Amino acid sequence: MGEAFQIRSNVDADSNCDFCTELDGRKSYFSGLYGDRLRDRLIIRTRYFSVFPTIGQIVPDYLLIISNAHFTASAQLPNEQSRELDDLTLILFT
Ligand SMILES: [Zn+2]
Repeated sequence: MGEAFQIRSNVDADSNCDFCTELDGRKSYFSGLYGDRLRDRLIIRTRYFSVFPTIGQIVPDYLLIISNAHFTASAQLPNEQSRELDDLTLILFT
């Protein structure tokens, strides 16, 4: 893969990310829309990932898995985190 896109993987460098903001417990875009209803939406938190229902689900039981550290694409995940994502996906959806 060339240098066609910039890899950003440092959560501290992206304080404007809505998901990172929510995971850090700071007031996020989502909490501005939904207030206290967001407080308990976390279902599972592992070493590397958090799982919660999406806002405005497309289909019933639709879940969002996000990394606890900021990445812009799953292809950027280090191998250890990628393996945990595979395991987590199997646990959640089988
Ligand atoms: Zn983020």
